Amino acid sequence: MSTKETTLEEIVSLAKRRGFVYPGSEIYGGLAGTFDYGPLGVALKNNVKNLWWKMFVTDREDMYGVDAAILMNPKAWEASGHVGGFTDPLVDCLSCKKRQRVDQLVDEKQYKEVIKQVRERFLDTGSEDVKKQLEEKAVKYDDKEIDWLVIKELALKEVDLENYVGPHVQKFLNKLVSCPVCGKKEWGVPRKFNMMFKTYVGATEDENSVSYLRPETAGGMFVNFKNIIDSFHPKLPFGMAQIGKAFRNEIAPRDFVFRVREFEQMEVEYFVRPADWEKSFEEWQGTMHAFADAIGLPKAQVHELEVADGDRAHYSKRTIDFEFDYPFGRKELWGLAYRTDFDLKAHSETSKVDLNYLEDGEKAEDRFTPHVIEPSLGVDRTVLAILASAYTVDELGGEERSYLKLAPAIAPVRVAVFPLLKNKPELVAKAREIYMDLKKAGVACMFDDNGNIGKRYRRQDEIGTPHCVTIDFDTLGEHPEHKNTVTIRDRDTGAQERIAISELLEKLRS
Ligand SMILES: [Zn+2]
Repeated sequence: MSTKETTLEEIVSLAKRRGFVYPGSEIYGGLAGTFDYGPLGVALKNNVKNLWWKMFVTDREDMYGVDAAILMNPKAWEASGHVGGFTDPLVDCLSCKKRQRVDQLVDEKQYKEVIKQVRERFLDTGSEDVKKQLEEKAVKYDDKEIDWLVIKELALKEVDLENYVGPHVQKFLNKLVSCPVCGKKEWGVPRKFNMMFKTYVGATEDENSVSYLRPETAGGMFVNFKNIIDSFHPKLPFGMAQIGKAFRNEIAPRDFVFRVREFEQMEVEYFVRPADWEKSFEEWQGTMHAFADAIGLPKAQVHELEVADGDRAHYSKRTIDFEFDYPFGRKELWGLAYRTDFDLKAHSETSKVDLNYLEDGEKAEDRFTPHVIEPSLGVDRTVLAILASAYTVDELGGEERSYLKLAPAIAPVRVAVFPLLKNKPELVAKAREIYMDLKKAGVACMFDDNGNIGKRYRRQDEIGTPHCVTIDFDTLGEHPEHKNTVTIRDRDTGAQERIAISELLEKLRS
């Protein structure tokens, strides 16, 4: 009964069998970290995205939707720090040749210690000027940033990175860490690996034509900030929203659609006056919980994690991770971050375009850079959380069954319509008439006359269809008092009731 017993394998198997999610390019042996959504997956995903757009954009008066290009001028990713810092440290096992992420081989404390040692060593050998800069920054930045800064500073001095930082980490690994695959302690020199997918724009493949598939959708909003101001003159606070694909060349994609190389995001950048950030932060926090309710995620499986000072990005004043109890443990589902004025300032500096804000009637010297609150939600992780929490095994009519307890608002099929018997043309005709009427009314419905009624119920249960409607001889008036009625069956209880066809739409919309 409990969703805790649900395994990821059960979810993956149901998703493939019933047409929710398939492995990417499967007939060629797949492509790691990619998945293809089938008909029911698309419907589920669209329902999730439409509901998000409604709750985060159209139900409000202060939101502006955009759909920015996936390919952007690479300067945008320099400004956001992705070109310089969006990296994973990698190391090869020299024995079995498998590549690993250094930060996953050692615990966080050990990793920080190694980086600290490298930094101290650098401070011993670096020039006075660089040392001073680094020490100033070290006060401001967390340890992850120091790691990046050391490397950046070294790069500025044209020090050969892999021969400087790498050997320290290599020595450490060879002393303490066994390969999780073969058990040996024979590591190569670690190196940094940028997670952005690089490509070339135009016919020439050189440094000047490099571009990237966007690693997040946020950038596409910040670069359009001025356009929104110029077209709509919004008053603060206001926000921008976007749903779209993003790409990260994950070293170790895993856990089904949880960590993938191509994924979809639903993001808001909400611009506020600095003094008002807490109010807006809490408002979006509330909206995110309301969204979790609306898509049927059980409250007990959604957890807020207040990200500690040292673990936040250096510019963020507050970040909450929304975590979810997946079959593989409690992991990140969504994020909510107060990003101060970091992004607009960075884009303004790099682009040399003024991204300040001035309200009508205010004096020119009142121009300032708005601060931003960012609710960020992954579509694929949301779909996985929905499938995992909806997967239920119970006993119905003395038989074990597995079904998806999906909220009606997001179920890919809202109702299935059956003629009691396939070989009675008058039943089939009436069933098809009701089915077409529901379709025309905009209800997601499915027609099924294949196999006995019990089997049809099982199939619909397994894809999470909340209701099944059966057209029988009473519908046609075998007992005159039941003419133009149908039976409607509830997925969760299996209970059936007889209602008038004219009440069907209202029942399905309630
Ligand atoms: Zn190995």
